[in-house]
Amino acid sequence: MSCPVCGEEVETVEHVFICCPITIQAWANSAWPLNMVVFKDMSIDQWINIIINQSELLKIQGKEAKEFTLFAAILCDQIWKNKNQTVWGNQPAKSIKLPVRINKVFTQHKQAWQSILEEKENSPSWKPPPLRWIKCNFDTAVKPDKVVLTVVCRDSNGSIVATQSQEKCLGKSLWVDSKVALLVVSSAHKEGFAKAVLEGDAQSVIKAIMNPFTTPH
Ligand SMILES: [Zn+2]
Repeated sequence: MSCPVCGEEVETVEHVFICCPITIQAWANSAWPLNMVVFKDMSIDQWINIIINQSELLKIQGKEAKEFTLFAAILCDQIWKNKNQTVWGNQPAKSIKLPVRINKVFTQHKQAWQSILEEKENSPSWKPPPLRWIKCNFDTAVKPDKVVLTVVCRDSNGSIVATQSQEKCLGKSLWVDSKVALLVVSSAHKEGFAKAVLEGDAQSVIKAIMNPFTTPH
Protein backbone atom coordinates (compact mmCIF):
# COMPACT_ATOMS: atom_id res chain seq x y z
CA MET A 1 0.00 0.00 0.00
CA SER A 2 1.42 3.37 -0.95
CA CYS A 3 1.56 6.34 1.42
CA PRO A 4 -1.82 8.15 1.39
CA VAL A 5 -0.14 11.53 1.85
CA CYS A 6 2.48 11.50 -0.91
CA GLY A 7 1.33 8.47 -2.91
CA GLU A 8 4.94 7.57 -3.54
CA GLU A 9 6.43 4.89 -1.34
CA VAL A 10 5.21 1.92 0.68
CA GLU A 11 3.54 3.15 3.86
CA THR A 12 5.79 2.00 6.71
CA VAL A 13 6.20 3.76 10.07
CA GLU A 14 9.69 4.76 8.93
CA HIS A 15 8.23 6.33 5.79
CA VAL A 16 5.52 8.23 7.70
CA PHE A 17 7.76 9.61 10.47
CA ILE A 18 11.15 9.91 8.74
CA CYS A 19 11.03 9.84 4.93
CA CYS A 20 7.65 11.16 3.76
CA PRO A 21 8.19 14.50 1.95
CA ILE A 22 5.66 16.23 4.23
CA THR A 23 7.64 15.05 7.32
CA ILE A 24 10.93 16.19 5.79
CA GLN A 25 9.39 19.58 5.05
CA ALA A 26 7.89 19.89 8.55
CA TRP A 27 11.29 19.30 10.14
CA ALA A 28 13.06 21.62 7.68
CA ASN A 29 10.64 24.43 8.65
CA SER A 30 10.98 23.92 12.39
CA ALA A 31 13.08 25.57 15.10
CA TRP A 32 15.35 22.49 14.74
CA PRO A 33 15.72 22.29 10.95
CA LEU A 34 17.03 18.75 10.75
CA ASN A 35 17.92 17.34 7.37
CA MET A 36 15.84 14.19 7.61
CA VAL A 37 17.55 12.65 4.58
CA VAL A 38 20.44 11.87 6.94
CA PHE A 39 18.15 9.57 8.95
CA LYS A 40 16.40 7.89 6.01
CA ASP A 41 17.89 4.42 6.51
CA MET A 42 17.10 4.25 10.23
CA SER A 43 14.50 2.07 11.86
CA ILE A 44 11.76 3.81 13.85
CA ASP A 45 13.37 2.51 17.07
CA GLN A 46 16.65 4.19 16.17
CA TRP A 47 14.87 7.43 15.33
CA ILE A 48 12.92 7.45 18.63
CA ASN A 49 16.20 6.76 20.43
CA ILE A 50 17.68 9.88 18.83
CA ILE A 51 14.68 11.97 19.92
CA ILE A 52 14.97 10.73 23.51
CA ASN A 53 18.78 10.85 23.73
CA GLN A 54 19.14 14.10 21.82
CA SER A 55 22.09 15.30 23.90
CA GLU A 56 24.51 12.65 22.65
CA LEU A 57 23.45 12.47 19.04
CA LEU A 58 22.12 15.92 18.17
CA LYS A 59 24.06 17.90 20.79
CA ILE A 60 20.88 19.45 22.16
CA GLN A 61 21.13 19.88 25.93
CA GLY A 62 19.49 21.27 29.07
CA LYS A 63 16.22 23.17 28.78
CA GLU A 64 16.39 23.02 25.00
CA ALA A 65 16.48 19.21 25.11
CA LYS A 66 13.07 19.12 26.84
CA GLU A 67 11.64 21.53 24.29
CA PHE A 68 13.05 19.48 21.44
CA THR A 69 11.49 16.25 22.75
CA LEU A 70 8.15 18.06 23.18
CA PHE A 71 8.40 19.42 19.65
CA ALA A 72 9.26 15.99 18.19
CA ALA A 73 6.26 14.42 19.96
CA ILE A 74 3.93 17.13 18.64
CA LEU A 75 5.35 16.87 15.14
CA CYS A 76 4.83 13.09 15.08
CA ASP A 77 1.29 13.50 16.43
CA GLN A 78 0.39 16.11 13.79
CA ILE A 79 1.94 14.04 10.99
CA TRP A 80 -0.13 11.05 12.14
CA LYS A 81 -3.34 13.13 12.38
CA ASN A 82 -2.71 14.55 8.93
CA LYS A 83 -2.24 11.06 7.51
CA ASN A 84 -5.49 9.84 9.12
CA GLN A 85 -7.40 12.84 7.82
CA THR A 86 -6.16 11.98 4.34
CA VAL A 87 -7.17 8.31 4.71
CA TRP A 88 -10.67 9.16 5.96
CA GLY A 89 -11.38 11.46 3.08
CA ASN A 90 -10.94 14.82 4.71
CA GLN A 91 -8.60 17.23 3.09
CA PRO A 92 -4.98 16.75 4.18
CA ALA A 93 -3.16 19.84 5.35
CA LYS A 94 -1.26 21.49 2.55
CA SER A 95 2.43 20.86 3.03
CA ILE A 96 2.99 24.59 3.61
CA LYS A 97 0.30 24.77 6.30
CA LEU A 98 1.38 21.72 8.31
CA PRO A 99 4.64 23.23 9.65
CA VAL A 100 2.67 26.36 10.65
CA ARG A 101 0.13 24.25 12.54
CA ILE A 102 2.87 22.17 14.21
CA ASN A 103 4.68 25.31 15.39
CA LYS A 104 1.42 26.79 16.70
CA VAL A 105 0.54 23.64 18.71
CA PHE A 106 4.14 23.47 19.98
CA THR A 107 4.02 27.10 21.19
CA GLN A 108 0.75 26.42 23.05
CA HIS A 109 2.18 23.32 24.77
CA LYS A 110 5.44 25.10 25.59
CA GLN A 111 3.57 27.96 27.25
CA ALA A 112 1.46 25.51 29.26
CA TRP A 113 4.60 23.71 30.43
CA GLN A 114 6.37 26.97 31.27
CA SER A 115 3.67 28.06 33.71
CA ILE A 116 3.86 24.65 35.43
CA LEU A 117 7.66 24.81 35.57
CA GLU A 118 7.57 28.33 37.03
CA GLU A 119 5.10 27.20 39.70
CA LYS A 120 7.45 24.35 40.58
CA GLU A 121 10.44 26.67 40.80
CA ASN A 122 8.58 28.97 43.20
CA SER A 123 7.43 26.22 45.52
CA PRO A 124 9.86 24.35 47.77
CA SER A 125 10.86 21.08 46.17
CA TRP A 126 9.82 17.81 47.74
CA LYS A 127 12.62 15.74 49.26
CA PRO A 128 12.40 11.99 49.77
CA PRO A 129 12.57 10.49 53.30
CA PRO A 130 15.60 8.45 54.45
CA LEU A 131 15.91 4.79 53.46
CA ARG A 132 13.13 2.56 54.89
CA TRP A 133 11.13 5.62 55.99
CA ILE A 134 7.84 6.71 54.49
CA LYS A 135 6.95 10.36 54.01
CA CYS A 136 3.26 11.21 54.26
CA ASN A 137 2.39 14.56 52.73
CA PHE A 138 -1.01 15.90 53.64
CA ASP A 139 -3.04 18.79 52.35
CA THR A 140 -6.54 20.21 52.37
CA ALA A 141 -8.44 21.80 49.50
CA VAL A 142 -11.36 24.01 50.51
CA LYS A 143 -14.28 23.96 48.05
CA PRO A 144 -17.42 26.13 48.33
CA ASP A 145 -19.41 23.36 50.08
CA LYS A 146 -16.82 20.91 51.38
CA VAL A 147 -13.18 20.29 52.15
CA VAL A 148 -11.12 17.55 50.54
CA LEU A 149 -8.39 16.01 52.66
CA THR A 150 -5.58 14.22 50.85
CA VAL A 151 -2.63 12.16 52.00
CA VAL A 152 0.11 10.93 49.67
CA CYS A 153 2.74 8.52 51.06
CA ARG A 154 6.04 8.01 49.28
CA ASP A 155 9.10 5.88 49.97
CA SER A 156 12.78 6.89 49.81
CA ASN A 157 12.75 6.46 46.01
CA GLY A 158 9.92 8.95 45.73
CA SER A 159 7.50 6.20 44.62
CA ILE A 160 3.92 6.55 45.81
CA VAL A 161 3.08 3.66 48.17
CA ALA A 162 -0.35 4.77 49.39
CA THR A 163 -2.88 7.55 48.90
CA GLN A 164 -5.99 8.49 50.84
CA SER A 165 -8.57 11.17 50.34
CA GLN A 166 -11.72 12.12 52.23
CA GLU A 167 -14.45 14.66 51.71
CA LYS A 168 -15.78 16.49 54.76
CA CYS A 169 -18.33 19.19 55.39
CA LEU A 170 -16.89 22.66 55.86
CA GLY A 171 -15.62 23.39 59.34
CA LYS A 172 -13.22 25.67 61.19
CA SER A 173 -9.65 25.53 59.95
CA LEU A 174 -8.35 23.92 63.15
CA TRP A 175 -11.02 21.22 62.87
CA VAL A 176 -10.09 20.62 59.20
CA ASP A 177 -6.39 20.48 60.08
CA SER A 178 -7.11 18.02 62.87
CA LYS A 179 -9.13 15.84 60.52
CA VAL A 180 -6.33 15.70 57.95
CA ALA A 181 -3.81 14.92 60.70
CA LEU A 182 -6.06 12.08 61.86
CA LEU A 183 -6.33 10.82 58.30
CA VAL A 184 -2.57 10.85 57.79
CA VAL A 185 -1.87 9.05 61.08
CA SER A 186 -4.58 6.45 60.46
CA SER A 187 -3.31 5.90 56.90
CA ALA A 188 0.24 5.35 58.15
CA HIS A 189 -1.08 2.95 60.80
CA LYS A 190 -3.33 1.08 58.34
CA GLU A 191 -0.49 0.66 55.84
CA GLY A 192 1.77 -0.59 58.64
CA PHE A 193 4.52 1.98 58.10
CA ALA A 194 7.12 1.41 60.82
CA LYS A 195 8.85 4.77 60.31
CA ALA A 196 6.86 7.64 58.91
CA VAL A 197 7.55 11.35 58.47
CA LEU A 198 4.55 13.66 58.31
CA GLU A 199 4.75 16.76 56.15
CA GLY A 200 2.07 19.39 55.70
CA ASP A 201 1.40 23.04 56.35
CA ALA A 202 -1.21 22.66 59.11
CA GLN A 203 1.00 24.42 61.66
CA SER A 204 -1.41 24.26 64.60
CA VAL A 205 -1.75 20.50 64.33
CA ILE A 206 1.96 19.91 63.78
CA LYS A 207 2.65 21.98 66.91
CA ALA A 208 0.04 20.02 68.88
CA ILE A 209 1.55 16.70 67.78
CA MET A 210 5.07 17.88 68.66
CA ASN A 211 4.01 19.21 72.10
CA PRO A 212 4.67 16.48 74.71
CA PHE A 213 1.97 17.95 77.01
CA THR A 214 -0.78 17.50 74.45
CA THR A 215 -2.78 14.36 75.05
CA PRO A 216 -3.92 12.86 71.78
CA HIS A 217 -7.50 11.60 71.61
ZN1 LIG B 1 4.50 9.71 2.09
